[in-house]
Amino acid sequence: RKKIESLEQQLKEVKKEAKTDELTDMLNKRALNAELEKQEEYFKRFKRTYSIIFFDIDHFKNVNDTYGHDVGDIVLKTVAEAIKRSINKCDYVIRYGGEEFLIILQNIKSIDDALQVAEKIRQRVEQTPIKLNNATIKKTVSIGVSVFPIHCHQAWECVKNADLALYKAKNDGRNRVVVFDKSLLPNTNRQ
Ligand code: GH3
Ligand code: MG
Ligand code: MG
Repeated sequence: RKKIESLEQQLKEVKKEAKTDELTDMLNKRALNAELEKQEEYFKRFKRTYSIIFFDIDHFKNVNDTYGHDVGDIVLKTVAEAIKRSINKCDYVIRYGGEEFLIILQNIKSIDDALQVAEKIRQRVEQTPIKLNNATIKKTVSIGVSVFPIHCHQAWECVKNADLALYKAKNDGRNRVVVFDKSLLPNTNRQ
């Protein structure tokens, strides 16, 4: 009996590990699909809306090039902590790629609601000092926002739209928030 309990415990831990990013302790990309499926279900059943906030650290390669990869990891961890402190426990935060993160904000009613959270994150990262051995630096993030079902009808479409808005934020000069708009779609996808 004890053995079974301990095996169950182990299985639980392995499952959690498979969904977690080691460096930031956030969910990893593998977990994203399942979370997005849940969001579609919540919307169908309870009309629960949400927003995808997609962001990317600005000029992160500079950090690695100047201070080395280990320091790059410290920066990633510090920025990840600043992000986690800016959202509710019920919101999901995912490390999407190297220095790219994605948040699923629950129960968002308007573009303004989403924008407010995104702006809070942007400012918080901008103001967070990152202590290195011989220096203290600050980094910024560029953010794209998309709201379901205002901008999209499928969860993955929402992610793609937020990514397009992020791309615009980078092109417009970084350290800013851009909300998705149809004009950002490639010509062939516009309705
Ligand atoms: P941009 O403002 O356009 O986003 O510029 P950038 O330099 O942030 O973007 P780019 O995509 O050119 O570089 C991302 C870098 O992130 C390159 C890669 O070496 C680094 N990186 C990705 N994952 C990790 C990681 O886990 N640790 C560290 N230290 N670096 C990472
Ligand atoms: Mg990137
Ligand atoms: Mg970057």
